[in-house]
Amino acid sequence: MLDFTYHRPASVADAAKIVGEIEDAKLMAGGMTLIPTMKQRLASPSDIVDLGRIPELKGIRRDGADLVIGAMTRHADVASSALVREAIPALASLAGQIGDPAVRHRGTIGGSISNADPAADYPAGVVGLDAVVETNQRQIAADDFFTGLFDTALEPGEIVTGVRFRAPDAANYQKLRHPASGYAVVGVMVARFGSNIRVAITGAGPSVFRAMEMEAALSAKFAVESLAGVSIDAADLLSDMHASADYRAHVVGVLAKRAVAAIS
Ligand SMILES: Cc1cc2nc3c(=O)[nH]c(=O)nc-3n(C[C@H](O)[C@H](O)[C@H](O)COP(=O)(O)OP(=O)(O)OC[C@H]3O[C@@H](n4cnc5c(N)ncnc54)[C@H](O)[C@@H]3O)c2cc1C
Repeated sequence: MLDFTYHRPASVADAAKIVGEIEDAKLMAGGMTLIPTMKQRLASPSDIVDLGRIPELKGIRRDGADLVIGAMTRHADVASSALVREAIPALASLAGQIGDPAVRHRGTIGGSISNADPAADYPAGVVGLDAVVETNQRQIAADDFFTGLFDTALEPGEIVTGVRFRAPDAANYQKLRHPASGYAVVGVMVARFGSNIRVAITGAGPSVFRAMEMEAALSAKFAVESLAGVSIDAADLLSDMHASADYRAHVVGVLAKRAVAAIS
Protein backbone atom coordinates (compact mmCIF):
# COMPACT_ATOMS: atom_id res chain seq x y z
CA MET A 1 0.00 0.00 0.00
CA LEU A 2 1.15 3.54 -0.73
CA ASP A 3 1.75 5.62 2.35
CA PHE A 4 1.25 9.36 2.10
CA THR A 5 -0.18 12.27 4.06
CA TYR A 6 -3.29 13.84 2.60
CA HIS A 7 -3.82 17.62 2.85
CA ARG A 8 -6.91 19.56 1.88
CA PRO A 9 -6.06 23.27 2.11
CA ALA A 10 -8.77 25.93 1.82
CA SER A 11 -6.67 28.55 0.04
CA VAL A 12 -3.89 28.84 -2.53
CA ALA A 13 -1.67 30.42 0.12
CA ASP A 14 -2.10 27.38 2.39
CA ALA A 15 -1.43 24.98 -0.51
CA ALA A 16 1.70 26.94 -1.46
CA LYS A 17 2.93 26.80 2.13
CA ILE A 18 2.66 23.00 2.23
CA VAL A 19 4.38 22.38 -1.10
CA GLY A 20 6.98 25.00 -0.18
CA GLU A 21 7.83 23.22 3.06
CA ILE A 22 7.64 19.57 2.01
CA GLU A 23 9.98 18.62 -0.81
CA ASP A 24 8.13 15.48 -1.92
CA ALA A 25 4.62 16.97 -1.73
CA LYS A 26 2.55 16.77 -4.91
CA LEU A 27 -0.38 18.94 -5.92
CA MET A 28 -3.52 17.06 -6.92
CA ALA A 29 -6.28 18.46 -9.13
CA GLY A 30 -8.75 15.76 -10.23
CA GLY A 31 -6.14 13.02 -9.85
CA MET A 32 -6.84 11.76 -13.37
CA THR A 33 -3.14 11.44 -14.16
CA LEU A 34 -1.62 11.60 -10.69
CA ILE A 35 -3.52 8.65 -9.21
CA PRO A 36 -2.81 6.20 -12.09
CA THR A 37 0.83 7.31 -12.01
CA MET A 38 0.99 6.48 -8.29
CA LYS A 39 -0.79 3.16 -8.82
CA GLN A 40 1.87 2.26 -11.37
CA ARG A 41 4.53 3.24 -8.79
CA LEU A 42 5.89 5.89 -11.16
CA ALA A 43 5.33 8.49 -8.45
CA SER A 44 5.30 8.07 -4.68
CA PRO A 45 4.86 11.50 -3.08
CA SER A 46 5.16 11.73 0.68
CA ASP A 47 2.26 14.21 0.75
CA ILE A 48 -0.69 14.94 -1.50
CA VAL A 49 -2.10 18.45 -1.55
CA ASP A 50 -5.66 18.29 -2.84
CA LEU A 51 -6.67 21.55 -4.58
CA GLY A 52 -10.31 20.46 -4.80
CA ARG A 53 -11.64 22.57 -1.91
CA ILE A 54 -10.10 25.90 -2.90
CA PRO A 55 -12.94 28.12 -4.14
CA GLU A 56 -10.64 30.74 -5.73
CA LEU A 57 -9.35 28.12 -8.23
CA LYS A 58 -12.78 27.27 -9.61
CA GLY A 59 -15.02 28.87 -12.18
CA ILE A 60 -15.03 30.89 -15.35
CA ARG A 61 -15.28 34.68 -15.34
CA ARG A 62 -15.05 37.65 -17.64
CA ASP A 63 -12.33 40.17 -16.81
CA GLY A 64 -12.78 43.08 -19.22
CA ALA A 65 -12.34 41.58 -22.67
CA ASP A 66 -10.63 38.48 -21.28
CA LEU A 67 -12.02 35.17 -20.16
CA VAL A 68 -10.33 33.68 -17.10
CA ILE A 69 -10.76 29.98 -16.41
CA GLY A 70 -9.81 28.84 -12.91
CA ALA A 71 -7.23 26.05 -12.73
CA MET A 72 -9.65 23.64 -11.02
CA THR A 73 -12.37 24.07 -13.65
CA ARG A 74 -13.36 20.69 -15.08
CA HIS A 75 -13.33 20.03 -18.82
CA ALA A 76 -17.11 19.40 -18.75
CA ASP A 77 -17.69 22.83 -17.22
CA VAL A 78 -15.63 24.54 -19.92
CA ALA A 79 -17.44 22.56 -22.63
CA SER A 80 -20.87 23.56 -21.36
CA SER A 81 -20.09 27.13 -20.25
CA ALA A 82 -22.30 29.74 -21.91
CA LEU A 83 -19.48 32.30 -21.47
CA VAL A 84 -16.92 30.12 -23.24
CA ARG A 85 -19.32 29.06 -25.95
CA GLU A 86 -20.12 32.66 -26.70
CA ALA A 87 -16.59 34.13 -26.53
CA ILE A 88 -14.45 31.21 -27.77
CA PRO A 89 -16.60 28.39 -29.12
CA ALA A 90 -13.51 26.55 -30.36
CA LEU A 91 -12.29 26.23 -26.77
CA ALA A 92 -15.61 24.83 -25.58
CA SER A 93 -15.48 22.38 -28.48
CA LEU A 94 -11.91 21.35 -27.58
CA ALA A 95 -12.87 20.70 -23.95
CA GLY A 96 -15.86 18.66 -25.08
CA GLN A 97 -13.60 16.40 -27.16
CA ILE A 98 -11.34 15.41 -24.25
CA GLY A 99 -11.47 11.76 -23.22
CA ASP A 100 -14.87 10.47 -22.11
CA PRO A 101 -17.55 11.83 -19.74
CA ALA A 102 -15.82 10.45 -16.62
CA VAL A 103 -12.52 12.09 -17.58
CA ARG A 104 -14.25 15.37 -18.46
CA HIS A 105 -15.97 15.49 -15.05
CA ARG A 106 -12.75 14.96 -13.06
CA GLY A 107 -9.95 16.39 -15.23
CA THR A 108 -9.10 20.09 -14.92
CA ILE A 109 -7.52 22.70 -17.14
CA GLY A 110 -4.81 23.38 -14.54
CA GLY A 111 -3.96 19.70 -14.18
CA SER A 112 -3.92 19.20 -17.93
CA ILE A 113 -1.52 22.01 -18.73
CA SER A 114 0.70 21.35 -15.70
CA ASN A 115 1.01 17.72 -16.75
CA ALA A 116 1.90 18.78 -20.35
CA ASP A 117 1.15 15.41 -21.90
CA PRO A 118 2.27 15.59 -25.55
CA ALA A 119 -1.13 14.22 -26.66
CA ALA A 120 -3.28 16.50 -24.50
CA ASP A 121 -5.73 18.87 -26.18
CA TYR A 122 -5.50 21.97 -23.96
CA PRO A 123 -1.89 22.82 -24.88
CA ALA A 124 -3.04 23.44 -28.48
CA GLY A 125 -5.87 25.63 -27.19
CA VAL A 126 -3.67 27.58 -24.79
CA VAL A 127 -0.87 28.19 -27.31
CA GLY A 128 -3.13 28.62 -30.36
CA LEU A 129 -5.28 31.15 -28.55
CA ASP A 130 -2.23 33.03 -27.22
CA ALA A 131 -3.39 32.60 -23.64
CA VAL A 132 -1.57 33.57 -20.46
CA VAL A 133 -1.07 31.05 -17.67
CA GLU A 134 -1.56 32.63 -14.25
CA THR A 135 0.18 31.17 -11.23
CA ASN A 136 0.44 32.12 -7.56
CA GLN A 137 3.73 33.82 -8.46
CA ARG A 138 3.48 35.31 -11.96
CA GLN A 139 1.94 35.31 -15.42
CA ILE A 140 3.49 33.11 -18.12
CA ALA A 141 2.80 33.57 -21.84
CA ALA A 142 1.59 30.36 -23.45
CA ASP A 143 4.57 30.41 -25.84
CA ASP A 144 6.91 30.20 -22.83
CA PHE A 145 4.89 27.76 -20.71
CA PHE A 146 5.32 24.40 -22.48
CA THR A 147 9.02 23.57 -22.50
CA GLY A 148 9.15 19.91 -23.56
CA LEU A 149 7.82 16.40 -23.04
CA PHE A 150 5.78 16.54 -19.80
CA ASP A 151 7.72 19.70 -18.97
CA THR A 152 6.65 23.26 -18.27
CA ALA A 153 8.10 26.54 -17.06
CA LEU A 154 6.55 25.97 -13.62
CA GLU A 155 9.02 26.13 -10.75
CA PRO A 156 8.82 23.45 -8.04
CA GLY A 157 5.81 24.21 -5.85
CA GLU A 158 4.41 26.86 -8.21
CA ILE A 159 0.63 26.60 -8.52
CA VAL A 160 -1.35 27.36 -11.67
CA THR A 161 -4.32 29.46 -10.57
CA GLY A 162 -5.98 29.99 -13.95
CA VAL A 163 -5.64 30.58 -17.67
CA ARG A 164 -6.46 33.95 -19.21
CA PHE A 165 -7.81 33.90 -22.79
CA ARG A 166 -8.64 36.75 -25.13
CA ALA A 167 -11.33 36.06 -27.70
CA PRO A 168 -10.06 35.63 -31.26
CA ASP A 169 -12.01 36.86 -34.29
CA ALA A 170 -12.40 33.19 -35.15
CA ALA A 171 -10.86 29.88 -34.19
CA ASN A 172 -11.33 26.20 -34.85
CA TYR A 173 -9.91 23.03 -33.30
CA GLN A 174 -9.59 19.82 -35.28
CA LYS A 175 -8.47 16.52 -33.81
CA LEU A 176 -7.72 12.96 -34.79
CA ARG A 177 -8.74 11.10 -31.61
CA HIS A 178 -7.12 7.96 -30.41
CA PRO A 179 -10.08 5.57 -30.54
CA ALA A 180 -9.52 4.16 -27.03
CA SER A 181 -8.29 7.04 -24.84
CA GLY A 182 -9.54 9.97 -26.86
CA TYR A 183 -6.11 11.63 -26.62
CA ALA A 184 -5.00 13.57 -29.71
CA VAL A 185 -2.98 11.52 -32.16
CA VAL A 186 -2.84 14.97 -33.74
CA GLY A 187 -4.75 18.12 -32.77
CA VAL A 188 -4.61 21.49 -34.56
CA MET A 189 -5.90 24.83 -33.27
CA VAL A 190 -6.10 27.66 -35.82
CA ALA A 191 -6.93 31.11 -34.45
CA ARG A 192 -7.33 34.44 -36.24
CA PHE A 193 -6.68 37.69 -34.37
CA GLY A 194 -7.05 40.32 -37.11
CA SER A 195 -4.26 39.63 -39.59
CA ASN A 196 -2.31 37.66 -36.99
CA ILE A 197 -2.83 33.92 -37.40
CA ARG A 198 -1.72 31.30 -34.90
CA VAL A 199 -1.52 27.57 -35.62
CA ALA A 200 -0.73 25.29 -32.66
CA ILE A 201 -0.17 21.54 -33.00
CA THR A 202 -0.50 18.96 -30.26
CA GLY A 203 -0.11 15.17 -30.34
CA ALA A 204 2.41 15.24 -33.17
CA GLY A 205 5.62 16.21 -31.38
CA PRO A 206 7.15 15.82 -27.92
CA SER A 207 5.40 19.04 -26.93
CA VAL A 208 2.88 21.46 -28.41
CA PHE A 209 4.42 23.70 -31.08
CA ARG A 210 3.44 26.47 -33.47
CA ALA A 211 3.50 25.82 -37.22
CA MET A 212 5.29 29.02 -38.23
CA GLU A 213 5.25 28.40 -42.01
CA MET A 214 1.52 27.79 -41.91
CA GLU A 215 1.03 30.93 -39.83
CA ALA A 216 3.01 33.01 -42.35
CA ALA A 217 1.10 31.58 -45.33
CA LEU A 218 -2.26 32.15 -43.65
CA SER A 219 -1.31 35.65 -42.48
CA ALA A 220 -0.59 36.57 -46.12
CA LYS A 221 -3.96 35.17 -47.18
CA PHE A 222 -6.35 33.36 -44.89
CA ALA A 223 -7.56 30.60 -47.21
CA VAL A 224 -7.24 26.84 -47.49
CA GLU A 225 -5.26 27.17 -50.73
CA SER A 226 -2.56 29.11 -48.85
CA LEU A 227 -1.60 25.85 -47.15
CA ALA A 228 -0.94 24.07 -50.46
CA GLY A 229 2.72 23.13 -50.51
CA VAL A 230 3.26 24.02 -46.85
CA SER A 231 4.26 20.92 -44.92
CA ILE A 232 5.53 20.00 -41.48
CA ASP A 233 8.94 18.33 -41.20
CA ALA A 234 8.34 14.75 -40.02
CA ALA A 235 11.91 14.60 -38.65
CA ASP A 236 10.76 16.55 -35.57
CA LEU A 237 7.63 14.46 -34.94
CA LEU A 238 6.85 11.39 -32.83
CA SER A 239 6.68 7.85 -34.13
CA ASP A 240 4.99 5.34 -31.83
CA MET A 241 2.56 2.42 -31.85
CA HIS A 242 -0.29 4.80 -32.69
CA ALA A 243 1.16 6.57 -35.74
CA SER A 244 4.40 7.16 -37.61
CA ALA A 245 5.97 10.60 -37.85
CA ASP A 246 5.21 10.71 -41.59
CA TYR A 247 1.55 9.93 -40.96
CA ARG A 248 1.34 12.59 -38.24
CA ALA A 249 2.91 15.16 -40.58
CA HIS A 250 0.29 14.33 -43.19
CA VAL A 251 -2.56 14.54 -40.70
CA VAL A 252 -1.36 17.96 -39.44
CA GLY A 253 -1.80 19.27 -43.01
CA VAL A 254 -5.26 17.73 -43.39
CA LEU A 255 -6.52 19.03 -40.02
CA ALA A 256 -5.06 22.51 -40.54
CA LYS A 257 -6.93 22.79 -43.85
CA ARG A 258 -10.16 21.62 -42.21
CA ALA A 259 -9.76 24.18 -39.43
CA VAL A 260 -9.14 27.00 -41.90
CA ALA A 261 -12.10 25.90 -44.04
CA ALA A 262 -14.34 25.92 -40.97
CA ILE A 263 -13.67 29.60 -40.25
CA SER A 264 -12.98 31.04 -43.73
C1 LIG B 1 -8.65 7.53 -19.72
C2 LIG B 1 -8.17 8.95 -19.90
C3 LIG B 1 -8.38 9.57 -21.12
C4 LIG B 1 -7.94 10.88 -21.32
N1 LIG B 1 -8.14 11.48 -22.54
C5 LIG B 1 -7.70 12.73 -22.73
C6 LIG B 1 -7.90 13.39 -23.98
O1 LIG B 1 -8.54 12.90 -24.91
N2 LIG B 1 -7.39 14.64 -24.12
C7 LIG B 1 -6.71 15.29 -23.11
O2 LIG B 1 -6.28 16.42 -23.30
N3 LIG B 1 -6.51 14.69 -21.92
C8 LIG B 1 -7.00 13.45 -21.71
N4 LIG B 1 -6.82 12.87 -20.50
C9 LIG B 1 -6.15 13.66 -19.43
C10 LIG B 1 -7.21 14.33 -18.52
O3 LIG B 1 -8.08 15.08 -19.29
C11 LIG B 1 -6.62 15.27 -17.45
O4 LIG B 1 -6.49 16.57 -17.95
C12 LIG B 1 -5.25 14.89 -16.99
O5 LIG B 1 -5.23 13.53 -16.67
C13 LIG B 1 -4.88 15.70 -15.73
O6 LIG B 1 -5.80 15.37 -14.75
P1 LIG B 1 -6.15 16.28 -13.54
O7 LIG B 1 -6.61 17.61 -13.99
O8 LIG B 1 -7.05 15.49 -12.68
O9 LIG B 1 -4.73 16.56 -12.83
P2 LIG B 1 -3.96 15.61 -11.77
O10 LIG B 1 -3.86 14.23 -12.30
O11 LIG B 1 -4.49 15.79 -10.41
O12 LIG B 1 -2.51 16.32 -11.82
C14 LIG B 1 -1.69 16.18 -12.97
C15 LIG B 1 -0.34 16.85 -12.70
O13 LIG B 1 -0.49 18.26 -12.66
C16 LIG B 1 -0.07 18.80 -11.38
N5 LIG B 1 -1.06 19.83 -11.07
C17 LIG B 1 -2.41 19.67 -11.00
N6 LIG B 1 -3.00 20.86 -10.81
C18 LIG B 1 -2.01 21.78 -10.73
C19 LIG B 1 -1.99 23.19 -10.55
N7 LIG B 1 -3.11 23.92 -10.42
N8 LIG B 1 -0.79 23.83 -10.55
C20 LIG B 1 0.36 23.14 -10.71
N9 LIG B 1 0.40 21.80 -10.89
C21 LIG B 1 -0.78 21.13 -10.90
C22 LIG B 1 -0.10 17.61 -10.43
O14 LIG B 1 0.82 17.77 -9.37
C23 LIG B 1 0.28 16.45 -11.35
O15 LIG B 1 1.68 16.43 -11.53
C24 LIG B 1 -7.26 11.56 -20.28
C25 LIG B 1 -7.05 10.94 -19.04
C26 LIG B 1 -7.51 9.64 -18.84
C27 LIG B 1 -7.27 8.99 -17.51
